[in-house]
Amino acid sequence: MTRFTRTPITYQDPEKRIHNFDEVCLGYTKEEAIKEAKRCIQCKNPTCVPLCPVNIDIPGFIKAIAEEDFKKAAETLAEYSALPAVCGRVCPQEDQCEKTCILGKKGEPIAIGKLERFAADWALEQGLSLGKTKEPNGHKVAVIGSGPAGVTCAGELAKAGYEVKIFEALHEPGGVLVYGIPEFRLPADDIVQVEIENLKKLGVEIETNVIVGRTITVDEIFDEGYEAIFIGSGAGLPIFMNIPGENLNGVFSANEFLTRNNLMKAFRSDMDTPIKVGNKVAVVGGGNVAMDAARTAKRLGAEVHVVYRRTEEELPAREEEVENAMEEGIIFDFLTNPVEILGDDKGWVRGIKCVKMELGEPDASGRRRPIPIEGSEFEFEVDSVIMALGTSPNPLIPRTTEGLNTDERNRIKLVSEKGQTSREGIFAGGDNVTGSATVILAMGAGKEAAKSIDEYIKSKATNI
Ligand code: FAD
Ligand code: SF4
Repeated sequence: MTRFTRTPITYQDPEKRIHNFDEVCLGYTKEEAIKEAKRCIQCKNPTCVPLCPVNIDIPGFIKAIAEEDFKKAAETLAEYSALPAVCGRVCPQEDQCEKTCILGKKGEPIAIGKLERFAADWALEQGLSLGKTKEPNGHKVAVIGSGPAGVTCAGELAKAGYEVKIFEALHEPGGVLVYGIPEFRLPADDIVQVEIENLKKLGVEIETNVIVGRTITVDEIFDEGYEAIFIGSGAGLPIFMNIPGENLNGVFSANEFLTRNNLMKAFRSDMDTPIKVGNKVAVVGGGNVAMDAARTAKRLGAEVHVVYRRTEEELPAREEEVENAMEEGIIFDFLTNPVEILGDDKGWVRGIKCVKMELGEPDASGRRRPIPIEGSEFEFEVDSVIMALGTSPNPLIPRTTEGLNTDERNRIKLVSEKGQTSREGIFAGGDNVTGSATVILAMGAGKEAAKSIDEYIKSKATNI
């Protein structure tokens, strides 16, 4: 192995893992992590740091691993990120920090994500609580939503001395990290909930089963004495294709399918609401959500087809997830687009009608536009169809909050880059502002908003 070759990491065998929901990537051992960390040349002007949305001191934590000081590595990560064990697993590092790693020019970039995961897991195993908090400053902030944006904003404010309460609609905190991303990529109990527990140790209170806009309104939260509110309500409303047959039994949105599996354990036949997908499933879409839905359906025992209207090259999902899906035997039907879902006389899905596509000129997104090939329609039999075409923000909070402006796609409009909305004292960030994006971008937004909230409250208060 030269400096330019990555230390290999172990994955669960594909043949075995398609029969369980255990984590697929097994992570580095101590020895492997040290070996990988020693490849880092500790650039004087590291190109990795600016591409990390929360600007983690990457050479710093990697050096600590190389020197076998794992506590220091974990402490360095905790200075910048509230969820390092999560980000080490799900961040698209290949498009961020690892993309510009200098070693990548001649060989393979440092496995920054896998090292982050190693150091964060080590700290979780030791039961270390790494955040430091200032003395309470007597000011209260409310946070709506406990996904990466809300959790980061809450953590930053708690560390700065604020009394913070999170209002969460679901019965478990964590947002997409618990209801969307499956256990085989991100173990909810061992990783997400432990990181959430660390947040509680900083003094953050979390109230679940509270739908803001229904159970309580934003204005009623202000009436309870909160001086600022951060809205991190995500983008949980599924998008459909509006083609005939989408209302048939056996058509799921990826959100419903994944939530029922992850949060309500629907893969277990002894649960109240088990999911039966049948023998053959079509998943429509090509992003991370489509990969998660397809790999979950595979684990439920089905033959799974990913139906995607462009080619493999344009797949928006992370490379690692596509590779894992292919290894698990998911079949990819590229340049194929559904035009109708076919039903039987009892209203259940029996098949899907698709059209073949070809790529034309680039569209507004810069990707070549898929164009239907006339007369190429064909049908194939499936028992279920899972629509994984993306999501948009739920309009409930803006509709029940006077003066909170949104755009035509229900995204909350900001009046500053730092999370200020059109209503004084209300800040927002994450998927409800950007539309469906990434964990780390949501965290970056939560962190920026926390700074703004701190400045806002300090500008009005006389005692801090
Ligand atoms: P969310 O995580 O959606 O959290 C919002 C929270 O607000 C939820 O808990 C919700 O219940 C709560 N809420 C909503 N409305 C209300 C209300 N009215 N009152 C109270 N609470 C409310 N990103 C990656 O970086 N890597 C990946 O591999 C990846 N895979 C993904 C796989 C799936 C299946 C999905 C769906 C997304 C994936 N993403 C991935 C995207 C990523 O998870 C999101 O960008 C990120 O979670 C957004 O964070 P957020 O805090 O803005 O919102
Ligand atoms: Fe290390 Fe790569 Fe960052 Fe340079 S760019 S400091 S080699 S991780």
